[in-house]
Amino acid sequence: MSRRKDRERFLAKKRLNPDYVGFRGSGSAAAPSEPPLEKVTCSRCGRARNVPAGVALERAEDYVCATCREEEEVEDSALDAGPAEAPAPEAVENPKATE
Ligand SMILES: [Zn+2]
Repeated sequence: MSRRKDRERFLAKKRLNPDYVGFRGSGSAAAPSEPPLEKVTCSRCGRARNVPAGVALERAEDYVCATCREEEEVEDSALDAGPAEAPAPEAVENPKATE
């Protein structure tokens, strides 16, 4: 019932924080202090984005900002019309909650 609202909030969160999807599988996403940010130009829209220095180093040549990636995902799912395969890692906040 509230799934659509959750999805909207998730997307809104991503919009507010361009780095949000950049942490996928990178490990130490939950650092208490903010990571140093560097400006990287998105290879798609050409806008300068603030990204963690590590990401900036890795993706300086072909960085694609969250907004462009989101558009890509929307296009993909529109073409496939299939369910997204990867579950959002954010959904599992506390695996031991059922104890
Ligand atoms: Zn972009």
